[in-house]
Amino acid sequence: MTTKSSADRAAGVARWVAAHLGWHVLPLHPDTKRPLAGCPDCRGGGGHTAAQCACLARGAGALCHGVWAASSDPAVVARWAGRWRTSVWAVHLGVSGLLCVDLDAHGGTPPAQPLNGVPWPAGDPLPVDGIDTYATLAGLRGAAVATTLATDTPSGGLHLLYAAQPGRWKSSTGRVRDGDDTVRTGLGWQIDIKAYGGYVILPGSTTAAGTYQRASTTVTPAPLPGWLAAELIRTGHDKHATPTASAAPPVTITAHDDQREARYAAGALRSACAELAEMPADSGRNRKLFRSTSRLAGMVAAGWIDRAQVETALTEAAGHAALPAGEIRYAIASGFRHPRPAPEHRSTT
Ligand SMILES: [Zn+2]
Ligand SMILES: [Zn+2]
Repeated sequence: MTTKSSADRAAGVARWVAAHLGWHVLPLHPDTKRPLAGCPDCRGGGGHTAAQCACLARGAGALCHGVWAASSDPAVVARWAGRWRTSVWAVHLGVSGLLCVDLDAHGGTPPAQPLNGVPWPAGDPLPVDGIDTYATLAGLRGAAVATTLATDTPSGGLHLLYAAQPGRWKSSTGRVRDGDDTVRTGLGWQIDIKAYGGYVILPGSTTAAGTYQRASTTVTPAPLPGWLAAELIRTGHDKHATPTASAAPPVTITAHDDQREARYAAGALRSACAELAEMPADSGRNRKLFRSTSRLAGMVAAGWIDRAQVETALTEAAGHAALPAGEIRYAIASGFRHPRPAPEHRSTT
């Protein structure tokens, strides 16, 4: 429920972080916790990007393009606070030079492997929430969960805010796909990474579920810890690590001998690489790489083709498709852990 005092408190925090920390903030709708609607011309994107938007270019506090309207101008923030009686304010992370580790407490059954690409310590109880999952990852890396600006959420979650290079880090969600027992995206179960294009609710905000409270004594974010940066790079969150699609030479694979199975496997690898290398971003490159690897892993197991040859060729093709190195390594490793049986050969001789 939004009262005058809850709205004043939330807006006060937003004004303070904009003025003192230079953060880009924006009011959210108190019920949906989403950005307020912009002008009719810009709804649904309006056929232009936020960077091209005439409303935002005026700098007068238009709320067009959702989170991209966020402002660090204290005058604009004061105007919004006067106009919108909302008790929920957010910070736009990427443009504010921030990264949020968003630890959820949604309940539910954790998967057998709650960490992406890292085996859960044998004998350890499985986590009950994202805070557990994250603490275990930090422990495995010999680190403590660093002291930084932290916010308790009304649902029992925790937001950790770190100072990070603007524009470098991608957002992710640590979810388990139906029927799977492993987290294959993000860092781990019930851990969301919010950075580029992402936002989180500021402490001092109140929704129907309760109030977001600062959980740390410090009011400023610590620099991104080295171990966490390494984990983010490993799991494909680093935009700078994305290889640019270049005019790489076509992948050439030759069968070493004239066995039918060897020729079949070499052909399968060649066509998988050719398809993969041409795939644009957001077209399921990761899944394709996983499936191709798992299919070829069966042929490796059957002795039809060499594992090193498969890994090298698929890595090269996926690199050509500009898939980040960390994601390539992970998809290939997963594929080899889940080999599909090699196809049975019908006798033609
Ligand atoms: Zn507009
Ligand atoms: Zn616009």
